[in-house]
Amino acid sequence: MFRLTNVMENLVLDTIEEILSTQKNICGCQRCKLDMAAIALNKLPTSYVVTAEGEVLLRVNSLKQQLKVDIIRTVTEAMALVSKNPHHARENT
Ligand SMILES: [Zn+2]
Repeated sequence: MFRLTNVMENLVLDTIEEILSTQKNICGCQRCKLDMAAIALNKLPTSYVVTAEGEVLLRVNSLKQQLKVDIIRTVTEAMALVSKNPHHARENT
């Protein structure tokens, strides 16, 4: 079985989870996480690959090495933007 995967999407979502786990003051609801991901993914290059089962991890790891600094910086900026202006009422955070 083969499928199309945007490797960058997985990396950005992973990075958001990593940062949220250390930043308890940032809202980590699904709406905020997806807003953060959308902002970051619009700034980062897409990286589509065709993957077979078992192949994903290798490709993700090599891409992560190259882009880790860029991804972390872009995700951090996106998280700051969203947490300043969440798309939901602040009472819900
Ligand atoms: Zn939220």
